[in-house]
Amino acid sequence: MQRYQMYIGGKFVDASAGEWFETFNPFTGQPWAQVARGNAKDADRAVQAAHQAFTEGPWPLLNASQRGKLLHRLGDLVAREAKRLAELEVRDNGKLIAEMQGQLNYLPQWFYYYGGLADKIEGAAIPLDKKGFLNYTRHEPVGVAVAITPWNSPLLLLGWKLAPALAAGCTVVVKPSEHTSVSTLEFVKLVEEAGFPPGVVNVVTGFGQDVGSALVEHPLVRKIAFTGSDVNGRAIYEAAAKTFKRVTLELGGKSPNIVFADAKLEDAVNGAVSGIFAATGQTCIAGSRLLLQESIHDVFVERLLALAKTARLGDPSSVDTQVGPVTTRAQYDKVLHYIDVARGEGAKLLLGGGAASRPECGSGWFVEPTVFAGVQNRMRIAQEEVFGPVLSIIKFKDEDEAVAIANDVRFGLGAGVWTSDIGRAIRMCERIQAGTVWVNTYRAVSYLSPFGGYKDSGIGRENGMEAMREYLQVKSVWINAGAATGNPFVLR
Ligand code: NAD
Repeated sequence: MQRYQMYIGGKFVDASAGEWFETFNPFTGQPWAQVARGNAKDADRAVQAAHQAFTEGPWPLLNASQRGKLLHRLGDLVAREAKRLAELEVRDNGKLIAEMQGQLNYLPQWFYYYGGLADKIEGAAIPLDKKGFLNYTRHEPVGVAVAITPWNSPLLLLGWKLAPALAAGCTVVVKPSEHTSVSTLEFVKLVEEAGFPPGVVNVVTGFGQDVGSALVEHPLVRKIAFTGSDVNGRAIYEAAAKTFKRVTLELGGKSPNIVFADAKLEDAVNGAVSGIFAATGQTCIAGSRLLLQESIHDVFVERLLALAKTARLGDPSSVDTQVGPVTTRAQYDKVLHYIDVARGEGAKLLLGGGAASRPECGSGWFVEPTVFAGVQNRMRIAQEEVFGPVLSIIKFKDEDEAVAIANDVRFGLGAGVWTSDIGRAIRMCERIQAGTVWVNTYRAVSYLSPFGGYKDSGIGRENGMEAMREYLQVKSVWINAGAATGNPFVLR
């Protein structure tokens, strides 16, 4: 079985304890490679390497344009290797090749965009209220940043963190998910090929409780950029507070996809189905609560079921497959558990409702696309993140009720609004508490547009200009242009 070492200070190395863990192919349910199992000592080695690269050596001597050029080169290399990386992701996380290919083809844009931004971060000369002084601001990198990624879109979510961090001049330690570490270890070879000096990007692999928490607690780390569950996000936030680290937390969601009677129904049906079944529902922005206006409820449900029934499950490496397996065994069990919870709460099962035993699913961790109607928003199935292909349908009467239901959840990541009434669209965009609102579309994201959560869905923003601020700190510089410094004991 192939073995993947971690990457520290520009070298691939074994874990200090010499341990390994298995990584699984979700389509076969079998392990296919081994990854170095790091511990707190490895976390420290990686942070020391990143700290050294930040304070000494060539990296801090590069100007911002030179950092931008390296990022551009990295973008070109990712474009060159997109197909290979996409195939690797499919094997390790079970997502569809069609989706991964699209994601990997898009990923270079993050490196180009932030490469372009690197030398456009300008301070200000402040017109002071005191004569004889020059005051200006500098935007300086915060220092060593730690990027902790989940398993659902490993390289995309790494790019969201790494590109602005490097553009800002930080050095980085990456901790990929223990379920999907391999693509990050292949990716980092491209970082080296692009010409980033040793120690600027390090990858330390292992489990959250060993490596992840050691990174979060490390005193030399100044910033944590985390994507993952709200439970772990909370623990990280608390631990980071001890050393006043900055944090970006991109957490879970229970996003409402709201369809008004005046919507173009065919578009809305397509949006609702892709909102929940794309990526097997394993996306933070899954439109897992479908809010339907009463008057179209029945006809909409009929059309939605007709489309959902056509979903082809099977081998994620085939371009014809439309719904792949769940990425981990634990997640598979969790999704099935939530289906039982919904049944127990009295939700009405309209489609699916269990493990998929179709022959094309082999021994993989597949769940049938599942639809529940008659869901009340207070039920657990409407309040808790399932992170799988399970849709809850909730009825509403009017705009006010739609807003009340949409906001009556502790998350606030995304929301969809389907309507032909522009006034209603604008009102809904104002009233919904979510970091992203889509009107007559769903799941669109871009390197150009800020992304993040309201409420328990997170803190801070990734993508767009906003993300740069997360890796910079502002210094105010005062220069005396010649005024004498007076005796401090004589009041003026
Ligand atoms: P997870 O929280 O289990 O793990 C995420 C990462 O955190 C992994 O690398 C893990 O090893 C690490 N980790 C776990 N405990 C840690 C600790 N105490 N200290 C430091 N690191 C720790 O999440 P997951 O199951 O891999 O991913 C699914 C979750 O991610 C879902 O809740 C989903 O909504 C969320 N997500 C959010 C976004 C977003 O942008 N908002 C995007 C994708 C996924």
